[in-house]
Amino acid sequence: MDLFTEGDPIADTRAPDGPIETRWERRRFEAKLVNPANRRKMTVIVVGTGLAGGSAAATLAEQGYRVKSYCYQDSPRRAHSIAAQGGINAAKNYRNDGDSVHRLFYDTVKGGDFRSRESNVHRLAEVSVNIIDQCVAQGVPFAREYGGLLDTRSFGGAQVQRTFYARGQTGQQLLLGAYQALERQIGLGNVEMNSRHEMLELIVVDGKARGIVVRDMVTGEITSEFADAVVLASGGYGNVFYLSTNAKGCNVTATWRAHRKGAYFANPCYTQIHPTCIPVSGDHQSKLTLMSESLRNDGRVWVPKARGDDRDPREIPEDERDYYLERIYPSFGNLVPRDIASRAAKNVCDEGRGVGPTKLGVYLDFADAIDRLGRKAIEAKYGNLFEMYERITGEDPYEVPMRIYPAVHYTMGGLWVDYDLQSTIPGLFVIGEANFSDHGANRLGASALMQGLADGYFVLPNTVANYLAAGPFEKVDATHPAAVEARRDVEDRIQRLLAIDGDRTVDSFHRELGQIMWEHCGMERSEAGLRKAIDEIRALRDQFWQRVRVPGNGEGLNQSLEKAGRVADFFELAELMCIDALHREESCGGHFRAEHQTPEGEAQRDDERFAYVAAWEFTATGEPSVLHKEDLNFEYVHPTQRSYK
Ligand SMILES: Cc1cc2nc3c(=O)[nH]c(=O)nc-3n(C[C@H](O)[C@H](O)[C@H](O)COP(=O)(O)OP(=O)(O)OC[C@H]3O[C@@H](n4cnc5c(N)ncnc54)[C@H](O)[C@@H]3O)c2cc1C
Repeated sequence: MDLFTEGDPIADTRAPDGPIETRWERRRFEAKLVNPANRRKMTVIVVGTGLAGGSAAATLAEQGYRVKSYCYQDSPRRAHSIAAQGGINAAKNYRNDGDSVHRLFYDTVKGGDFRSRESNVHRLAEVSVNIIDQCVAQGVPFAREYGGLLDTRSFGGAQVQRTFYARGQTGQQLLLGAYQALERQIGLGNVEMNSRHEMLELIVVDGKARGIVVRDMVTGEITSEFADAVVLASGGYGNVFYLSTNAKGCNVTATWRAHRKGAYFANPCYTQIHPTCIPVSGDHQSKLTLMSESLRNDGRVWVPKARGDDRDPREIPEDERDYYLERIYPSFGNLVPRDIASRAAKNVCDEGRGVGPTKLGVYLDFADAIDRLGRKAIEAKYGNLFEMYERITGEDPYEVPMRIYPAVHYTMGGLWVDYDLQSTIPGLFVIGEANFSDHGANRLGASALMQGLADGYFVLPNTVANYLAAGPFEKVDATHPAAVEARRDVEDRIQRLLAIDGDRTVDSFHRELGQIMWEHCGMERSEAGLRKAIDEIRALRDQFWQRVRVPGNGEGLNQSLEKAGRVADFFELAELMCIDALHREESCGGHFRAEHQTPEGEAQRDDERFAYVAAWEFTATGEPSVLHKEDLNFEYVHPTQRSYK
């Protein structure tokens, strides 16, 4: 059977044309408005309380809509965004170092390896400056210089310092800002907050998204919830690899269920492998830890020049070290984008020059920076990251270089959305990491927080009004056949999972799936490997549905049941990721195909054949997905072979 079929091309019909600097302004002006009295009559469901969902829910409620907010954590402020460490980009040009909206736009399109939409990225760069003002007004304690001005630092893929930060806890501080805004609206009665509730299905009525089916994770109660529009801000799906830097709970269920109901899934194979994570130390692990990219501002990456050099790194003299990023990419040095740094680390380890017990590691060394700036200055910038590293590895990075290795970190793929952030299901909007986002095939560091908050505070609140202007829509309740069917599907699936009563844990299946994905759809992919992976995933999925053991029942807290549902969805997603990776016969950004590389081992794009967004349509279980291509046009940043040399 064919792995997929090809359907009609898809176009972003909401994308304005004309001079790029005026597009967002014009779209906002042309979009319909909803008058304040009518906003009160309309309800919006927001799934997710991370930076994207939290900021969207607070803003929509502030505007006067009634909002129902959902998250699976015990508090909205525990969303995965809280883990973000290094910073958030904005084209403020406070340093007067040559930054501008245009440069951020340019860096992001280039950093994404020319696989993102120019209009979206320009809007993101424009809005970036408002985000900092918004967050400062909320009291987010960004780092400041001695004189009191906001401090910035560099992140990969940029030669300017445009990253605003709060030590190594930027996500936490930004999320507390959004959370306070959300709490205020909860207190005012404008937001109904539903923590510990997991969305398990989307309700589509007459072609429009009108609600969700949720399970109360504490009581097991299943209910149907209705609204005039539904916003998914449910984060990324990096945990399909089992080991990743994502919080353990991160999953694909919300977006995958919507995909099965008609929302196209775009570029699922674009995965970001972050170069600076603590190396895997054994098969007992269920989670990997990121060491923020900000560390590459001062840390120097190196390996011994000689293979198998096992000496203590401090005993290896300068002339026997290879600072390979500085050597290969002299212009950007240690601050090359993530895809490039990750592949370079893999290459030196493949050559036998990796360090540490597994030999899958490279050094990130702060000795020079400590000599130059003093330990105090390094502590002030990165203290909490150093502490975290020491607690996990037992080594003191002030004394011994850190050991790092690439790990799965972020997913650029996600539900396809138009310029208004609306999916292919009318009334279903998708924001933050959950959509296929503005990052093309590779996200630059500090740009996810920027995108999540741009979507939530500034873009969605404008564009959703254009849709809601036609509302309020006809009332729907739990007796509507579409709602009855969605709820029944959820109940049947739970019963099916509980009834298998097999002999393998959910985690054992998840771990094995992750190994297949890492091996064949990770940092490097090949046709043979991807075909093998598809066969293995299918076989393992069949086993899962015969042998998984989910103890307990559905009538209360049952973490195995929660995980089983998520892993079942990961199986389906994993297959689509491999098919997407297989069909894209080029290398671009986070998608590196072994067959398509330059003589120097860099990613070799094929713009003639693949300058498009791959938007996948679900047909039916077991049937091939349909590929719809959205052509990408570049008027302002002309695609070239990326060079950071
Ligand atoms: C360790 C780490 C460090 C990072 N550091 C940075 C950084 O310095 N700078 C940067 O720009 N980016 C960083 N990133 C990336 C960035 O943190 C994320 O991309 C971003 O926070 C995602 O935000 P979000 O709002 O889209 O989703 P999330 O914060 O993941 O929130 C998802 C929300 O959806 C809810 N949810 C999901 N599914 C369901 C469901 N089925 N039912 C109900 N609720 C559901 C969850 O409960 C949660 O509230 C980092 C990522 C990691 C892993």
